[in-house]
Amino acid sequence: MPNFDTYLTENRHRFESDLFEWLRIPSVGTDSAFDRDVRQAANWLAQKFRGLDLDTEVIETCGHPLVYAESPKVLGAPTVLVYGHYDVQPPDPLELWETPPFEPSVRDGKVYARGATDDKGQMITHLFGVEAYLKTRGELPLQVKFLIEGEEESGGAGLAAFLSGDYDNDVPVKEKINADIVVISDCSQYGPGQPAITYGLRGITHFQVNLSGPNRDLHSGGFGGSVSNPANALCKMLAALMGEDGRIQIPGFYDDVQSPSERERRQLAALDFSETECMSELGVNALAGEQGFSTLERRWLRPTFDIHGLWSGYQGEGAKTVLPAKAGVKFSCRLVPNQDPAKIKASLKKMLEGLCPPGIEMEFHASRGAPGLVLSLDSPYVEAAARAIKQGFETRPVFVRTGGSIPVVNSFASILGIDTLLLGWGQDDDNLHSPNEKFSLADFHRGIKSSCCLWDEISKVDA
Ligand SMILES: [Zn+2]
Repeated sequence: MPNFDTYLTENRHRFESDLFEWLRIPSVGTDSAFDRDVRQAANWLAQKFRGLDLDTEVIETCGHPLVYAESPKVLGAPTVLVYGHYDVQPPDPLELWETPPFEPSVRDGKVYARGATDDKGQMITHLFGVEAYLKTRGELPLQVKFLIEGEEESGGAGLAAFLSGDYDNDVPVKEKINADIVVISDCSQYGPGQPAITYGLRGITHFQVNLSGPNRDLHSGGFGGSVSNPANALCKMLAALMGEDGRIQIPGFYDDVQSPSERERRQLAALDFSETECMSELGVNALAGEQGFSTLERRWLRPTFDIHGLWSGYQGEGAKTVLPAKAGVKFSCRLVPNQDPAKIKASLKKMLEGLCPPGIEMEFHASRGAPGLVLSLDSPYVEAAARAIKQGFETRPVFVRTGGSIPVVNSFASILGIDTLLLGWGQDDDNLHSPNEKFSLADFHRGIKSSCCLWDEISKVDA
């Protein structure tokens, strides 16, 4: 059998041509005009898994099918579940693409095509990682399961229904996809030449508040000063939610927030990050936020309150002396691990009721919300992934968190109780969801090698 590096080198060209073939299938999941292509992309992938003798199924859902494949269970070794998606964003606006979105084109060592980085190119590194392992060592040192969906870009209803369902072909779903750790490659490195492991996500909960005052818009000359104005009331209520020091004033809001460990603060402080560059990129003359925390801490480790939309009264040209009958706002709080969305919802509602002045009716709506998640930096899986990436990228990854939320990671945590490693091979400027989406082919091959090494490294973890 060839050794590992020889196999990867000898197959470089074929890995690329397979990827390009897959990228040529326009699997736009959000547009029913592409339904046949979406199905073809699922079948193409299933065929690849079957080619590696993995036990493979195309599972029907209420939407696009799931592609599921697994290698045999290895006694005494952990099981890894690889999640990814084969659907892609619509390519519009087409005229902004330098080369057509579904004709992969290589320029400067990068492949340009819709789905190149999000997520076909990144996801398939794990299929090739399994292939290279099997072809050089004969069998995998642990069990690998793949769960690849076709609706990531359109809400994931099929996967959600599958995960919360009971059985698939008489096998309990939870048992079928049970694993010790989930691996997802659908995100970015920290920067060019600096791979990263994302070990934490923020959660989120959305709110909408509608205020109504008098039964119609009033003349502010006739009635101003004598009736509560819903727009004034809304401004006052919202202003009370955040202090001058950037602290959110909802009672109990910070009760469950964990302070970052010394190790974590040191890691974050050591990351290459420039506030000046950040300001110039955003076109602002200052950064702001909760006192006592750095910009990266504010983005990744601390909860937020941000208004997304406000409406009331007259917005047209010139003056109109209206005392509006209604006012409304949409806002959300990003949440960090340990904060309970339900508790915050209840406390916020009570606070707003107390702030709502006489003569105003308040309607309060809140989403169910999702909690933040974090994997301990001391997790043996984090260490195993770091060792694998070091071999693949020839440099040690940094550990980062993200301020965003990834619903599927919450589903794996809440429904299956499994943690997720986010191992991104892409770059922030890969134009995912935009014209000229791209993926570095060097990173594609480094990803394949990292994936191959990952099976070895995770197999050494005591499951
Ligand atoms: Zn994606």
